[in-house]
Amino acid sequence: FLPHLIASLGEIEQTYIMVKPDGVQRGLVGEIISRFEKKGFKLTGLKLFQCPKDLAEEHYKDLKAKPFFPKLIDYITSGPVVCMAWEGVGVVASARKLIGSTDPLQAEPGTIRGDLAVQTGRNVVHGSDSPENGKREIALWFNENEINQWTPAQAPWLRE
Ligand code: UDP
Ligand code: MG
Repeated sequence: FLPHLIASLGEIEQTYIMVKPDGVQRGLVGEIISRFEKKGFKLTGLKLFQCPKDLAEEHYKDLKAKPFFPKLIDYITSGPVVCMAWEGVGVVASARKLIGSTDPLQAEPGTIRGDLAVQTGRNVVHGSDSPENGKREIALWFNENEINQWTPAQAPWLRE
């Protein structure tokens, strides 16, 4: 009974979500936060932050060999970003769905990129692509004391 119950709940995951500099400059911070908030995920970390070059390079290290890498680093460091940690069962894949395809012209209407952006190089938001990267990226962008554990009052109204 108990193992079945635990399995049906699924793994609690963490994901790193970031409003990129274009999202901040275009006044989309509240809109983007509210997509995740309304869905029912739990915010555990939040800050406005000017990203240094070395952090941007570490965050995107898997893309180092790509031709667009220098422009990507310039873009991410071009102004403040909003760093967020979100938690929940299935939050990593669900956040990727809410965000939409990398190319905003391919992203479905209703997704953040599908609704709010037009170009891959200005696609307003980042989301971790796996639970492992979620943990890695939160550790990269946040100090431990910036992550808060709390129980939202709505918890029993989100999951039976
Ligand atoms: N990017 C770009 N040109 C490309 C592919 C990616 O400028 O041809 C940028 C874009 O900002 C993208 C980021 O690099 O969001 C990371 O690329 P990835 O393939 O990981 O896409 P994501 O996971 O953000 O959808
Ligand atoms: Mg990615």
